Amino acid sequence: MQSVTLKDKTFIPYITSDKILESVKEIAGRINFELVNDKPIFLVVLNGSFMFAADLLKEVTIECEISFIKLASYHGTSSTGTVTEMIGLTEEIKGRNVVIVEDIVDTGITLEKLVNLLTKKEVKKIKVASFLLKPEAYKKDIKVDYVGIEIPNAFVVGYGLDYDGLGRNMKEIFVLK
Ligand code: 5GP
Repeated sequence: MQSVTLKDKTFIPYITSDKILESVKEIAGRINFELVNDKPIFLVVLNGSFMFAADLLKEVTIECEISFIKLASYHGTSSTGTVTEMIGLTEEIKGRNVVIVEDIVDTGITLEKLVNLLTKKEVKKIKVASFLLKPEAYKKDIKVDYVGIEIPNAFVVGYGLDYDGLGRNMKEIFVLK
């Protein structure tokens, strides 16, 4: 694997495609075993999770549904500050077992907002699958049930993750030099 330059930054090889697929299969195996009776709905958080979700869900063999959502932030009134909204969900999720599919959990702010939104919709149970987790940055109490690979506090691209819109299509993960 060679270094790549995206715009003004150079990234060096970090996690190979083989290693990625190995950990994705491990997560799928655990989900197939642990959620076999749950009939879950997987909520894939776009954009970054598209590649992880595709690989993961090819290996998930239990009965399930898959839906794709985006989180949109906008500034509300001064009393409410920034409001986060979930867009794209057409399915009724009240009373359902939900598995959030994330590309990366860093500080956990995004995850917490999403869990709060889902809780308001009265889902039955929430599980979280994130391909990457930065344990040093993560300060929230929400359990990340399925983690592919833990990484230090560094900026990574590839496998769905972008730098300024670029790099999402790379099948390996690269880290900022
Ligand atoms: P949070 O801090 O809320 O857990 O993460 C917010 C978002 O920042 C993630 O969903 C992801 O889009 C982005 N992010 C966090 N760390 C990285 C990283 O190392 N590389 C890239 N490309 N995006 C990241």
